[in-house]
Amino acid sequence: MRFEHNFCPVCGKALKVEERGGRERPVCACGYVHYANPAPAAGAVVMRDGLCLWVRRAGEPRKDLWSLPSGFLEWDEDIRDCARRETLEETGLEVEIGEILETLSGFDDPRTQAVLTVFFARVVGGVEQAGDDASETRWFPVLEPPKDIAWQAHRHIAKRLVELAKSGEPPA
Ligand SMILES: [Zn+2]
Repeated sequence: MRFEHNFCPVCGKALKVEERGGRERPVCACGYVHYANPAPAAGAVVMRDGLCLWVRRAGEPRKDLWSLPSGFLEWDEDIRDCARRETLEETGLEVEIGEILETLSGFDDPRTQAVLTVFFARVVGGVEQAGDDASETRWFPVLEPPKDIAWQAHRHIAKRLVELAKSGEPPA
């Protein structure tokens, strides 16, 4: 169990661990229960002529490894807007968000657990330039994705794209 808080965020008293709803959770005498939930994230598969756009991570964790343009949702943000915003911030490209490719869990980010929804996307404007969390953008052939991909979920998506391409139904 992750223990994120020692003190109640409502009243400031010390939390203690008790069973609630089938799991042990930090609880407070005032009635507060701390539920730890994974963080939603959105990513984009931006395709062009059989190539897929990847970005190199500018910082830790997994610095210099490759990922799809992606990131965590902000409060009040629509998940498609998140995919569009992260792609713009990391690649300089404005994209139109298309169909969902897949939603999958991520357990290998040391910062939090994630639930990542990956959308197909196509470029509609902008000027390609790495920014924000990305130090470099590069178009990889779908059949030859980067070898050093930062996250298990993104490695899974790379495999899915290879399968789709080989099935004769190449995406986008
Ligand atoms: Zn409390």
